[in-house]
Amino acid sequence: PSEAAVDDFWRWLCERGAVAASSAATVKPGFVPEGLGLVAQRDLPRNEVVVEVPKRLWIDSDTAVASEIGRLCAGLKPWVSIALFLLRERALGTASPWHPYLDILPPTTNSTIFWSEEELSEIEGTQLLNTTMGAKESRAFSRGRGENLALVPLADLINHSSSITQVDSCWEIKGKGIFSRELIFSLRTPVYVKSGEQVHIHYDIAKSNADLALDYGFVEQRPDRDAYTFTLEISESDPFYGDKLDIAESNGLDETAYFDIALGCPLPPLMLPYLRLVALGGTDAFLLESVFRNTIWGHLELPVSRANEEAICRVVRQACKSALSAYHTTVEEDEKLMEGDNLDERLRIAVCIRAGEKKVLQQIDDAFRERESELDVLEYYQERRLKDLGLVGEQGEIIFWESK
Ligand code: SAM
Repeated sequence: PSEAAVDDFWRWLCERGAVAASSAATVKPGFVPEGLGLVAQRDLPRNEVVVEVPKRLWIDSDTAVASEIGRLCAGLKPWVSIALFLLRERALGTASPWHPYLDILPPTTNSTIFWSEEELSEIEGTQLLNTTMGAKESRAFSRGRGENLALVPLADLINHSSSITQVDSCWEIKGKGIFSRELIFSLRTPVYVKSGEQVHIHYDIAKSNADLALDYGFVEQRPDRDAYTFTLEISESDPFYGDKLDIAESNGLDETAYFDIALGCPLPPLMLPYLRLVALGGTDAFLLESVFRNTIWGHLELPVSRANEEAICRVVRQACKSALSAYHTTVEEDEKLMEGDNLDERLRIAVCIRAGEKKVLQQIDDAFRERESELDVLEYYQERRLKDLGLVGEQGEIIFWESK
């Protein structure tokens, strides 16, 4: 946007009472490396409220429903009504009361949904490519886009910084005061900011780099942002499908389970038991009988049998190998590329994502290779059971009763 557009937007906000008085403003929109951002107008102590935006300035599903296209919005998901509303207001041009706001919105970001085919070819083989294609076909929009979706002018100019370590939410929605029922969106600065510097927050600590790339169009150089999601499933053709599903459900899992694995972090605690459950069969199948229903999960938390443990190692390692073979580059090639400092921003995101996914896959493969090498020394259900019954001596020898 031009400087004039930003000035118009500011005037529009002041006229509508979003900012008490322009002279008393704590922050103002300004040009920053991330596009537009919020720039402190004086020294701001930590936790100072920097922006308060009343509900009448938000664009949410209520705005769409109250508008001329409102009757078309009945029954639509909030994000669909909001998208329709924005399209219509945009088409109205300067006749739209919202135009000063629409005019400062960035036409695109570096989110992967805006990437060309050529740019997308740089993330060939990644999970991010799948989620991006899913989002573009607008199938994946349900995730995280809830009922309370709202565009909040001015507050939405706040940028993310990885150096902000306070990751608690910096915003809240509150009543304006005892005489007014109008809601306001209130945003605080998590740290002290000097006059003239930009105010930042930390968007979302739980997001992986793939989430950040898809939602916002940037990534962070932090190993635990590198992640891979393992999808496991109890197959309907499994002869023990019903029992296994029942056991999974009693433990808060389902027919399909998703495990997000982050670089340098241990496997999610439910992953091994779920894997063992999925692989359970043969001579271990007695554990699925109903007499074990209350204790089965405890048994699955430890190795069940050599055959079962071997099966989970084989399946996981195969999945890792097959996933790894779909990438066009090696981690070493990616890391070499990342050393160059005038890398195109989208290419840098692509390289970071594909290197991160591969590192996590290698980490998982390593973990299961190690487990495979321990198959002979692991302790399995039968030995534990014998020990419990006092039938195994200190050295692991089986104790027989001698008839006197
Ligand atoms: N900068 C935005 C603008 O010009 O309208 C305002 C913030 S908006 C809520 C979020 C977008 O800002 C992101 O999608 C991304 O394009 C940009 N952004 C925010 N934090 C960033 C960061 N740390 N690095 C790169 N881009 C960032």
